[in-house]
Amino acid sequence: MAMEPTHGITFDAASLTEAQADGMACVVCSADYMRVDVPSIPVGTSATGSQVFACESHVEPAAEGKSSSWPEGEPATVRQAEAEAREVRDLAVRWAVLAERFRSRDELLARAMDDVARSMTDLATAVADDVPEVLDGATATARARLDASRALLAVRQAEGRS
Ligand SMILES: [Zn+2]
Repeated sequence: MAMEPTHGITFDAASLTEAQADGMACVVCSADYMRVDVPSIPVGTSATGSQVFACESHVEPAAEGKSSSWPEGEPATVRQAEAEAREVRDLAVRWAVLAERFRSRDELLARAMDDVARSMTDLATAVADDVPEVLDGATATARARLDASRALLAVRQAEGRS
């Protein structure tokens, strides 16, 4: 069982898919790194010893405080903003993965999900930077994209029932 506790990501090397074992997909969310553009980090090795990866967004941030910008440790508000940004970035990855899953069957829906993923990535950046005007804009955009995607999903579900 390959585990490296430093980044907080554990996985069962025996149950990885071929793509995950080859380092082509995330061991946590199965994001296909050939198709989903997301920063990833090495998190251990597969049963055959090849390096495997996970999206950076799944990784717990380093222990409290002490960075070059905050030598005395980050203020609570900064840590809070970073935690929220990480959650939103993780959501963005999940939407991107979802989009890939729909791509072959429903290009329109996949593209709407791409838009959601992109707007979530922008929102995560805005949350981390914490500039109120930018944050308002990014929130509104993400909400609109999410609504559009939901509306399309509802139509598809209704079509499926009829
Ligand atoms: Zn992932």
